[in-house]
Amino acid sequence: MNEVDPEVVRRWQECADLVAADVARTTDLTGAWRVEVRDDEDALSADLRAGTRHARGPAYRSHLRITFGAPRERPRVPLLRPEIWLVAGGVAEILLSPDVVEIADGVREIAAKVQHEVIDELWTAWPVCPGHAHPAEVGGSEWMCPTSRSPIAEIGRLSR
Ligand SMILES: [Zn+2]
Repeated sequence: MNEVDPEVVRRWQECADLVAADVARTTDLTGAWRVEVRDDEDALSADLRAGTRHARGPAYRSHLRITFGAPRERPRVPLLRPEIWLVAGGVAEILLSPDVVEIADGVREIAAKVQHEVIDELWTAWPVCPGHAHPAEVGGSEWMCPTSRSPIAEIGRLSR
């Protein structure tokens, strides 16, 4: 089994902390953000993954899960290689690249993905463009207005 370079994990955590700071300062969402290495997954995810890989024809499947009664602990199976996940403050779990990232690229990637999840969670624009009511957009290392293309704040330095 290949090992995950601790430097990669450290960099991803640094990226995540910047985006987490923006979320903490501008929303009521609380919860720790941590980057973790996983070397197993639950058996259902493994089945879905295998099913997708070997699918013939239309490869769509439902993500709806209905649970009756108390959630059951599902059996876990080892992954072929370890994965790096961001567990983002109870909002999302995001699979990250196992390769070394530049901080700027990592911040951009996490900001864009987390923005999507925060909007889904809060049902409101986030982060809000101060000049308008629409959500800001990730542009370079900044949040920017999607209309005027003017910068709002550097990612990690967003204020209410
Ligand atoms: Zn705007």
